[in-house]
Amino acid sequence: MLQVKNLTFGYKKTKVLKSIDFTVETGENLAVIGESGSGKSTLLKLIYGEHDLKQGQIFWKDEEILGPEYNLVVGYDFMKYVSQEFDLMPVTTVAENISKFLSRFYPEESQRRTKELIEVVELEEFANTKVKFLSGGQKQRVAIARALAKQPEILLLDEPFSHIDNFQKQGLRRNVFNYLKNNKITCIVATHDRNDVLGFADQIMVLNDTKIIAKDQPQNLYKNPQLPLIASFFGEFNVIEPYGIVYAHQLQIVEKSNLKAIVNRAYFNGNVWLIEAFYNSEKIFIQHHTELDKDSEIYFSVVS
Ligand code: ADP
Ligand code: MG
Repeated sequence: MLQVKNLTFGYKKTKVLKSIDFTVETGENLAVIGESGSGKSTLLKLIYGEHDLKQGQIFWKDEEILGPEYNLVVGYDFMKYVSQEFDLMPVTTVAENISKFLSRFYPEESQRRTKELIEVVELEEFANTKVKFLSGGQKQRVAIARALAKQPEILLLDEPFSHIDNFQKQGLRRNVFNYLKNNKITCIVATHDRNDVLGFADQIMVLNDTKIIAKDQPQNLYKNPQLPLIASFFGEFNVIEPYGIVYAHQLQIVEKSNLKAIVNRAYFNGNVWLIEAFYNSEKIFIQHHTELDKDSEIYFSVVS
């Protein structure tokens, strides 16, 4: 289990994180979300031991994570960290970047393992390509495979799929997160992409204004987002009294109701249209199965 106890940290005088307390069970996937600048990367770096703590403690099992003041070399064997600035060896191949971290004394095992990890990140075609010839997204995938090479107990991922295009993202997410689950690797992933979270995270932790403002299972947070900030992570939403926060798909256009709105625009959104309308001169968003004309009058109801 990872334990973060009463952690307070700032690079300078201003604190980035204040009195942060949480635990992550072994094998669990925790997603850390929050706006840009909310301290997600800082938290991962602290867990990795990149900075000395003046207040608070971090433990993995019984071992306290200590910063550079106590450790000549930052980091621990049981933990790997894929940062937003993945640093790879540019003039060596994808396979070599991964196998470098494996034992030279068991070449067959090392080769088998390298192949397995290349498959997880779907880079078979590029196994023998030098890293400097790869795209940003491909490099990001090498960084993930390399972090997994030595089978860490805990993996810290910072916006792990941010450079990877949509054509490959979803498959890759499934590969990587399933690999972690199957191998009982504890994972903390900092992200602003709901697709990194829904379907994969056991818990979501929301950082805002130096604090943890929510920590719960994805289903619970999604169904009951206590704050607009949380709802905005999951999708288009409205605040409509007396109902509170309601997602665009919770508004349904009906023949007649006492909630009337005027259509302003319709956005094509794949299998649905997102209707932008004015309700009491407030902009609202409604999911609907067809396009609607500007200025048409509609009635809607709220479904839970
Ligand atoms: P996030 O990953 O959520 O976008 P960060 O942890 O990167 O947030 O940043 C949190 C805050 O700390 C920001 O205000 C950022 O400007 C500041 N910060 C991050 N890294 C440093 C640093 N090395 N030195 C000084 N301030 C930093
Ligand atoms: Mg960050």
